[in-house]
Amino acid sequence: MTGTSETRALTELKQKLSETWDLTMIHGLLDWDQSTYMPPGGGPARARQSALIAGLAHERRTDREVGRLLDRLRPYEESLPYDSDDASLIRVARRAFERASRVPPAFMAELSRHFNLSYQAWAVARPQNDFAGMAPLLQKTIDLSRRYADYFSPYDHIADPLIAEADYGVTAAEVTQLFGRLRERLAPLVRAIVAMPPADDACLKQHYPRGEQWAINESILRSIGYDFERGRLDVTHHPFMTKFSLGDVRITTRVDEHDLGYALFSTIHEAGHAMYELGIDPAFEGTPLADGASSSVHESQSRLWENFVSRSLPFWQFFLKPLKAAFPAQLGGVDLETFYRAINRVERSLIRTEADEVTYNLHVMIRFDLELALLEGRLAVKDLPDAWNARYAADLGVAPPDDRDGVLQDVHWYAGFVGGAFQGYTLGNILCGQLHEAALVSHPSISADCAQGNFEALHAWLGSEVHRHGAKFTTAELVQRITNGPLRIEPYLAYLEAKYVPLYGLD
Ligand code: ZN
Repeated sequence: MTGTSETRALTELKQKLSETWDLTMIHGLLDWDQSTYMPPGGGPARARQSALIAGLAHERRTDREVGRLLDRLRPYEESLPYDSDDASLIRVARRAFERASRVPPAFMAELSRHFNLSYQAWAVARPQNDFAGMAPLLQKTIDLSRRYADYFSPYDHIADPLIAEADYGVTAAEVTQLFGRLRERLAPLVRAIVAMPPADDACLKQHYPRGEQWAINESILRSIGYDFERGRLDVTHHPFMTKFSLGDVRITTRVDEHDLGYALFSTIHEAGHAMYELGIDPAFEGTPLADGASSSVHESQSRLWENFVSRSLPFWQFFLKPLKAAFPAQLGGVDLETFYRAINRVERSLIRTEADEVTYNLHVMIRFDLELALLEGRLAVKDLPDAWNARYAADLGVAPPDDRDGVLQDVHWYAGFVGGAFQGYTLGNILCGQLHEAALVSHPSISADCAQGNFEALHAWLGSEVHRHGAKFTTAELVQRITNGPLRIEPYLAYLEAKYVPLYGLD
């Protein structure tokens, strides 16, 4: 540290950031409670309380004094190495301040009101298969998404500022190029797999009582390293992870008594998100660095545990035994190979969130392309259902019987921007391939360890290469540091081919 005025400015900045951080965490706590334990009667007051806290947090985030402190700290930042904690804190705080300051509070309030209204309308429209009823609201969402992007002009593509919300530095052009190449390689793999007899997953679709499922899920979470001293598992409708500090990172799940795989893999998925947050350097607590690097890096962590680890053969060489002990009647006669094939069943399907790891990316790429077309004005809202159905027919070979399982299927687009959310899921998969490859190079024993229920080397590698850095680096910076290059699709494709070619007997 140099001059005392800089010391003072940094201390003051940290103080201000930590208050904003606490308001954001309190907001998260209200949301968590609303999605888990709050009785319906709490709804109206909770909406008001959430809006109040969000407004206060936004005020703090854009406090001019924060801007002045960041200006005063610029020479200090420039005197430090780029990757030092202080320089990174100032850089990341400045980016957040500048982005938040571009958007007027009145627009933020309009957004929040509209998203609320649109969400409530969608909850009614979806069961009624009423896309026409949603169309005016969706049109307004697109208009608001465009207006939001315009606060960040100039940009190369109207989706860029929306993508920057989740994945700072990633552009629509880059994603379009990566996805185009991925689709070219993935489509033939999917065609080859679905031409083969489907894997039999009947063993997963028996009756699995809730209580036993809960117990085995908790036990697997402990075994893979999710720390219940700093976390919790609760029930919700749509599983998610949330945090209230680096010492309290919670996950939620949902149990389906007729589908063993649902809670099993979605719980491990959320634990992957949580273990990322729990691995962040505790010194970053209360600052904008105490967060994941981006939504795609976050998704790389959840997918790594969900797919690369817990849908692998070595994992079940260890865990099938305790699982059978929990469900002797259902699984007693099921061998490892049958179970492994069942949990890796690939099929053409309509619903993105229920898709297997191979076809999942096709769903995401359809959404991404449609979003760009809507934002660019190439596609009108009234033509969206037809465009959707045409792409599902072309890419996945399935035809939604109605909009309920087509364009209305999930809440995305009806409770948030059009643009900026979907690319993260597939970028996360791509990145996961690269990280997994790099981890295996430095610790070749990872697979063998997994078959012993031992994840220490994997945790150590992820902790030092990814987790501890929190939000210090952008997606591209992190990939460059770890792999000495940019995002590449090849390791992910190699992973899929190495797994699915033998599994489905392809040549
Ligand atoms: Zn996720």
